[in-house]
Amino acid sequence: MDNTSKIPSYLSRERLGPWETYLVQIDRVEPYLEKSLLPWVETLTRPKRTLIVDVPIRLDSGEIAHFEGYRVQHNLSRGPGKGGIRYHPDVTLSEVMALSAWMTIKNAVVNVPYGGAKGGIRVNPKNLTLAELERLTRRYASEINIMIGPEKDIPAPDINTNEQIMAWFMDTYSMNQGKTTTGVVTGKPLSLGGSLGRPDATGRGVFITTVEAARHLGIPIAGAKVAVQGFGNVGEAAARLFAEAGAKVVAVQDETGTVFNAAGLDVRRLKRHRHETGSLGGMAEAESIDNQDFWACEVDILIAAALENQITEDNAGRIRARIVTEGANGPTTPAADLILQARNILVIPDVLANAGGVTVSYFEWVQDISAFFWSEDEINQRLDKIMRDAFNAVWASAESKGILLRTAAFVLGCERVLLARKLRGLYP
Ligand code: GLU
Repeated sequence: MDNTSKIPSYLSRERLGPWETYLVQIDRVEPYLEKSLLPWVETLTRPKRTLIVDVPIRLDSGEIAHFEGYRVQHNLSRGPGKGGIRYHPDVTLSEVMALSAWMTIKNAVVNVPYGGAKGGIRVNPKNLTLAELERLTRRYASEINIMIGPEKDIPAPDINTNEQIMAWFMDTYSMNQGKTTTGVVTGKPLSLGGSLGRPDATGRGVFITTVEAARHLGIPIAGAKVAVQGFGNVGEAAARLFAEAGAKVVAVQDETGTVFNAAGLDVRRLKRHRHETGSLGGMAEAESIDNQDFWACEVDILIAAALENQITEDNAGRIRARIVTEGANGPTTPAADLILQARNILVIPDVLANAGGVTVSYFEWVQDISAFFWSEDEINQRLDKIMRDAFNAVWASAESKGILLRTAAFVLGCERVLLARKLRGLYP
């Protein structure tokens, strides 16, 4: 079959940036929105507030280096801004705008009382020493200080940012305030107001939503074959949880290569191997295969937990999974969405599938503000309920309207945001 024949020319082969992808998604959702909300839809196509900052730091060599940083608050109708901070050489304003918009929708889909925000610095953190990374983080935190705060905008980890970076961030904000303010960021170390369950939360949410989808499709998890793209915080946790539930993680891909074992990879051993050697390849019982062949692996479930624009019109026709779960933000292009739909492959969209991270971030923020901390069981149980309820609400709406899960999730999220917007009215 010619998979590209039904793709409208404005999507075809054109490398849409993440913001354009988001705008196409809003276009697709508009016909299904409650009519009284339509006058407010344009709100969603314009970020509320955008800040571009210069982040100069002194390198260990004594030289000065400048990096460009961003913080975008896409929408604050439902509460303070919330969303991670990304350190990556490909970070652009357009990307951060899209990521902040997806946070708006995601936070509304799981109904946490936040707007959407995101930040980032265009930098390859692997080229910096630990001391340089600390200076970069502290200077960036100072530059975006005017926008953030526990009641204004609460950052969190994203690609290449971790607990230590959140600790530096929290400390910088607190030093400027003259008081320790743990609730200004989430994803902190446990000893600094972090939450149990936060490190695995995004991967756990990916697992929970996929299990729900598999149940609807009649696919048993025990023995199901799973391929995972991305072996960072999200991909590794999801792979581990699938393996623990009896699934076979047959293929894993990250920026260092792709490994395969038809009988299932040992995920914990692979994590250790990746950590010790710096790459996926070279472990016994893990055959290295061509990166492009990853997409054609015969699996039940494919988890896309790396970066944006990974599933495109070039590889969507080769995917043999029955379920694609978006652990990453924006991994599927709008053109690829059409191909997967035509091939009857179910896509669990990012704004639902990876919302477990921000859900436990919300728990962390609530715990910080109330200075009362919960057990891991309590956190995992609450996460499980929120993710399953959100999944089933989206599933029911998709079934009754005959639309994709992505469209249904966007309808749910957008309607919550637009209702808040409408009720608040215009000022002045
Ligand atoms: N960066 C994560 C995301 O994309 C988590 C954001 C948060 O916890 O605020 O959802």
